[in-house]
Amino acid sequence: MVRDALESPWRTPLHLFGISMCSVRHRQAQTVSIGPWDAHRMTDDAATAPHSPGDRIADVAVVGLGPAGSALATRCAAHGLSVVGIDRGPDRRWSPTYGVWQRDLPEWLQRDAVATRAHPTVVTTRRVTTGRVTIHRRLDRTYAVLDTPRLQSLLRDGSYHIVTGEAASVGRDDVELADGTHVRATTVVDARGPEAGRRRAMQTAFGLVVPAARARPALGEADALFMDWRGDNGAAASAPPSFLYAVPLDAEHVLLEETCLVGRPALPIPELRTRLHARLAARGVRLDGTERTERVAFAVESPRARHTGFGVRAGMMHPGSGYSVGAALALADPYARALAHGRRPRSLPRPVQSLRDAGLRTLLELDPGELREFFDAFFATPHAVQADYLAPKASTAGTAAAMGHVFAHLTPATRRTVLRAVTGRTTDAQAGTD
Ligand SMILES: Cc1cc2nc3c(=O)[nH]c(=O)nc-3n(C[C@H](O)[C@H](O)[C@H](O)COP(=O)(O)OP(=O)(O)OC[C@H]3O[C@@H](n4cnc5c(N)ncnc54)[C@H](O)[C@@H]3O)c2cc1C
Repeated sequence: MVRDALESPWRTPLHLFGISMCSVRHRQAQTVSIGPWDAHRMTDDAATAPHSPGDRIADVAVVGLGPAGSALATRCAAHGLSVVGIDRGPDRRWSPTYGVWQRDLPEWLQRDAVATRAHPTVVTTRRVTTGRVTIHRRLDRTYAVLDTPRLQSLLRDGSYHIVTGEAASVGRDDVELADGTHVRATTVVDARGPEAGRRRAMQTAFGLVVPAARARPALGEADALFMDWRGDNGAAASAPPSFLYAVPLDAEHVLLEETCLVGRPALPIPELRTRLHARLAARGVRLDGTERTERVAFAVESPRARHTGFGVRAGMMHPGSGYSVGAALALADPYARALAHGRRPRSLPRPVQSLRDAGLRTLLELDPGELREFFDAFFATPHAVQADYLAPKASTAGTAAAMGHVFAHLTPATRRTVLRAVTGRTTDAQAGTD
């Protein structure tokens, strides 16, 4: 379905917006204005101009321009498709600190999207007859912290058109906006991200940006901490646990974040703030009250797209970490290529989705001691097994093998909890939308 812009009858509706074929061809190479509207913004009137039923205004309409939708829109445009992106607040500045595994970063993404790289350490604790031992493991894979403003500008490269609007309903080839107008496309992709809801499992965290020299005692020898499960944060051993996440943001600053991996409900942010302060005090980190803060709260389960989805709406959020940005970046180009060739994009195999849903139920079911044991067992598995489990294109065999590996290393009591969770009811994550 990759068509020459000059020949494609599918481009014809673009004339509704007054764009010339010549400018369509140029838009991939330039980030400057195209046609009568700014490259970053097609007037909403133009995008939703009256047209007869069946007219398509674009090859692809991407609903939701978070990291996932923006990456997909960019890659679809790079493959020669005409793309309309729809978002209720496309000008919202992205502020989260995004961490991804280096190997998930695609070739097409410019290298300066990465702010820092590290080989993080995981710290777990294990109960032994004489008490509890602490185990430090340096992961042998590179972790990248993205430069969020740079990422946003790279994914808003002017190669696709943006409509500001609230999608009221997202169909296979039609999006109805809240004001009653319609945007039609050959393929509509739902990339609306996680949906907040009182009953949804959430990840929460509270972080402080601390000068690197002052943060040093929190990290010890490590250049970053992916998960530090040590109990020096003042919380009772029987309380829902949280861990320390620590990553360099640049040469001079480190983000220190107390994180509740997942909970229904998750730990409240004030509690995480108290724990972070207690932990940093216990490690001798001096704070002066001027530190920038980061607050994290997002749903780790979400309704899945009814038709074509991408990002969290396509099950790309990994329940073991709450990460989805790396997977979306890794999968944007293969998805776009499939759309450009008229193929249905391949989503995560259903058995992998089911196994991941079971993984999420397990994390929600484990008691505090079992959760620490679970992560100790996970990070004790060979690196290749962990990598298979965390991969954006995880295979059923790799996912099942990793889960089996972890299960085999658990105590009988924890195995019983896991079995109860795995055979229990399904999560909301499997429900459709709209
Ligand atoms: C502080 C913080 C730190 C984080 N750190 C990490 C990290 O290190 N690594 C990681 O992978 N993830 C991290 N996350 C989670 C990450 O932000 C999300 O998983 C990710 O943004 C999901 O991407 P998405 O594009 O699928 O959805 P979203 O980013 O949620 O984007 C969805 C978009 O759709 C739009 N939208 C939704 N509904 C509609 C509608 N009806 N009509 C029109 N537009 C709509 C929204 O405006 C939004 O722009 C973090 C989150 C926070 C808050």
